[in-house]
Amino acid sequence: MRLSEFLECNRGKLFVISGPSGTGKGTVCRRVVEKINAEISISMTTREPRVGEINGKEYYFVSNDEFLETIDDDGFLEHAEVFGKRYGTPKKMVMEKLEEGKDVILEIDVQGALQVKKSYEEAVLVFILPPSMKELKRRIICRGTETEEDIEKRLSKALDEISIIDKYEYTVINDQLEVAVENIISIIKAEHFKVKNYKEQIIKKLGEE
Ligand code: 5GP
Repeated sequence: MRLSEFLECNRGKLFVISGPSGTGKGTVCRRVVEKINAEISISMTTREPRVGEINGKEYYFVSNDEFLETIDDDGFLEHAEVFGKRYGTPKKMVMEKLEEGKDVILEIDVQGALQVKKSYEEAVLVFILPPSMKELKRRIICRGTETEEDIEKRLSKALDEISIIDKYEYTVINDQLEVAVENIISIIKAEHFKVKNYKEQIIKKLGEE
């Protein structure tokens, strides 16, 4: 196997994508996985499905008891409470995909992102920003799924989240969707070429030839 092929078929990488509610990170992530060989992890949540959301597609919608049982079984890579509801990343699926060599994207909030980084240091944290707070508010209102009170809560949380952006390795502004998607793909590609991730394997591989 040539070295270039060897580098491509290595273990998958874990990318954590966060950003304020309404930044369009869901749309960005879905577009990224249409273009490259990566998968988005499906989280569990205790929140109600929105109109059009399907169990097992956007989320696994579960009861509070089911969620607590999964915590007891150590079934989450991370979990957090966001806007009064519980959200968590099922551990098994993520680990299996990484072992298969697939890149996995977690679209989760900042509390979850920091937990993941603690337990899985190789995770790459990417923060998606809106072009402005005014545009963020417009996008949340256009979604039409939140009450006035929820919108205010989401905008206030957005500022809290943005204040810890320095814990992230990369940031991408979602002004034009396709530009944001290409920027995320560039980050994913760049991570695959990082020497520190492969140093031992490269030396071993070239030494065998
Ligand atoms: P929404 O209810 O709008 O789908 O999501 C609300 C927030 O929860 C978003 O910031 C989203 O990224 C975050 N979220 C979704 N799934 C998870 C998860 O598994 N863990 C954590 N920590 N946050 C999540």
